[in-house]
Amino acid sequence: MPQKLSKLEEKAIALLLKYQDKGLLQSELWHKLGVTSREGSRIAIRLEKKGMVKRVKEFAKDRWTRRLVPLIRRVTIEPIRGAPCLSCEQEHVCGEGGVISPKNCPRLEKWVIGSLTAKSEAQAQEAQAENIQEQSVETQS
Ligand code: SF4
Repeated sequence: MPQKLSKLEEKAIALLLKYQDKGLLQSELWHKLGVTSREGSRIAIRLEKKGMVKRVKEFAKDRWTRRLVPLIRRVTIEPIRGAPCLSCEQEHVCGEGGVISPKNCPRLEKWVIGSLTAKSEAQAQEAQAENIQEQSVETQS
């Protein structure tokens, strides 16, 4: 069930999602939100109670503080961009026990294989480019 958030909580989550992996020190978040530490602490505690952030104790800038790390992730449609299901004319008969389903759909299978192939080719090209760059650096030194 979606959580109801105040405007400031929404703003805090939007900021924290920009720092998904590392999170932010709570004082940095208060500063960016333009709120007092007291108000900021309340926001953090409410977000923690809602299961949206974890507050991790950390020694920073000569004192103990908390780092706020988001427990939710920004979702994009990128992984399913181009999927045939999004514009499928058989969608109304597709499903478990239906005439067709994702388990036996040739169009979906072709798209999945094509996506995986494209992804692994891109990773191979990226690795090759990194190798060339590393060799170039080694040659120069
Ligand atoms: S799985 Fe196949 S038939 Fe079902 S919605 Fe996707 S593309 Fe259409």
